[in-house]
Amino acid sequence: MNLAGIIAKARSENRAALDELAGKQLLAGFGISVPKSVVVAGADEVAAAFTKLTPPLVLKIVSPDILHKSDAGGVRVDLKSGAEITAAIRQMMNAPAVRDARIDGFLLEEMAPPGQEVVVGAVRDPQFGPLVMVGLGGIFVEVLADVAFRICPITRLDAQEMLAELKGAAVLKGARGRRPVSQDAIVDVLLKIGGEDGLLMRHADDFKEADINPLIVSESGAVAVDARFVLT
Ligand code: ADP
Ligand code: MG
Repeated sequence: MNLAGIIAKARSENRAALDELAGKQLLAGFGISVPKSVVVAGADEVAAAFTKLTPPLVLKIVSPDILHKSDAGGVRVDLKSGAEITAAIRQMMNAPAVRDARIDGFLLEEMAPPGQEVVVGAVRDPQFGPLVMVGLGGIFVEVLADVAFRICPITRLDAQEMLAELKGAAVLKGARGRRPVSQDAIVDVLLKIGGEDGLLMRHADDFKEADINPLIVSESGAVAVDARFVLT
């Protein structure tokens, strides 16, 4: 499906936001790496889906009612066999927050190479239009609010400066014995989202807010493993 089709379909279904797969298709359409994935309706479809992917896999609930999948018991990582996945689906369906939700299916996807988790976000300012944001994942964003914003469109230099101004910037360079991660890969994603020809400039009227949380950045690249696009 083309990108306009993905957005039109979500609107025709009266959705407030794109589902995770649609969000990732949109990112992929702008050249951002996303995990290879398959959506299954339930445990019966796991065996067929399993042959199309390379384990270990991640299993995620797909529901318009569940925003924070992990909090709801809707994410399982590092699953290595069809039997493990089938059992995880059964367990997931019994989690209290999942039992009460509308369920569109289960997303099965490959694991991203390990790395530093980064958040890339976007909001629409009534005065300035789209803004792009970057921060380091986990407590850096949630507790320390260590983030950098720019008005779109941004240049490569803007993107590099955004990373440099994070208080936690040293983490990307491999603080405390960890390997450095590819800052270029983050800059590339920021440009594909917030640059001149980026997603936000091309879809300025489509989204109220968006985020990739997390983008997992390794030494050699970056993979968007979660995507949320809230429609206007
Ligand atoms: P949510 O934010 O809704 O709880 P995510 O899709 O972000 O759900 O998944 C939760 C966490 O699981 C991520 O922050 C990441 O640490 C891990 N994770 C999710 N998908 C993958 C993946 N494909 N590869 C590696 N880790 C993943
Ligand atoms: Mg997430």
